[in-house]
Amino acid sequence: MPKDETFWNPYRLIPVQDTISKKRPLTDEKFRANSGRIYCTIENLTPLFIGGNRNNSQQFLISNGKHIIPGSSLKGMLRSLAEIIGGGCSVTDSNGQFNRTYTACNKVDSLCVTCRMFGMMERGRGARVHKGKIFISDALTREEKPETKLFDVQLFSHGTRHEPFYRTPQTGRLDGKSRKFYFHQPKRKNSALEPTNIQKFVDKKNAILPGCQFEFEIDFVSLEKFELELLVYILALEENVDVIIEDGKIPLKGPMRHKLGYAKPLGLGSCRIDLNKIEYFAAPAERFSSLGQTENIVYERDALKTLIKTLTHRFVSDTSTTMQQLRKMMVWDENDPRDFAYPKNHWFNNASNSEKALKHI
Ligand SMILES: [Zn+2]
Repeated sequence: MPKDETFWNPYRLIPVQDTISKKRPLTDEKFRANSGRIYCTIENLTPLFIGGNRNNSQQFLISNGKHIIPGSSLKGMLRSLAEIIGGGCSVTDSNGQFNRTYTACNKVDSLCVTCRMFGMMERGRGARVHKGKIFISDALTREEKPETKLFDVQLFSHGTRHEPFYRTPQTGRLDGKSRKFYFHQPKRKNSALEPTNIQKFVDKKNAILPGCQFEFEIDFVSLEKFELELLVYILALEENVDVIIEDGKIPLKGPMRHKLGYAKPLGLGSCRIDLNKIEYFAAPAERFSSLGQTENIVYERDALKTLIKTLTHRFVSDTSTTMQQLRKMMVWDENDPRDFAYPKNHWFNNASNSEKALKHI
């Protein structure tokens, strides 16, 4: 993906929002209006591998005899999306290494939106914990025995990091204002994964073939309006985006899809999430009878579609650089003509490439 090459590096850096607002998380038990449960299905569009078995690193994660995606994996994926879209701190950067604006939150009563939603723990002595307001279950397969295939996965690791690849494209600097994100690779739907030849190591992974469905639920508690909107958007995303990749003038069209699990640079882990039902929990009748809502309210089918449209409107109509770049990264277009690869060793060893950045998207 460097400039002047025909192939595309599998990743890009996406600029985060310019400002982050912090405040005390709303956790009042009496505030029930935005508490409830979302029922979801996730289906893989390219091979999917989630590891974690103690004695068998080739095997997809199995718990109680079933293939599962742990809630923690889903949480990690959703949290990083919320961080980019909603304006969150950089959880791994406790010192504000590159940019103090994005220093990880360290006070439970002054939290960015992602820490309010997904939780955080203070550092140091007497550290307090905010456990978050979103709880994600493990995702369980519908099928008894999902179809799997043993892939030779050859991942590469650079000895040295090519610094210009990590600069924020919009500022041309290493300023901590962007996050790494991987493109979808629809051509890799069923094909064996191609090797790269940089300090490669080969790993065998028994990945689940495309078309496997898993089900999971998300419980949310006392979310403020913006937090609920953000939660629904990072799950539902957008069904129709139309973008043009600047370099090469490549038009892409399709829905936005997620990416999860192992070997994302090699095209694994593209997934679609469907929301099947949203249920708002009723206020406890004895305390809130005057408000009228004493039964759970359930949204399904057409009513659910309308609700999602309303809740996600703010983000769908957002044309900020962050959102435009994100759409270009997350669009799933079966006709995407690009070939993805990392530059080979000789490219990095060639001094004339030392300042070369990635192609613009
Ligand atoms: Zn934070």
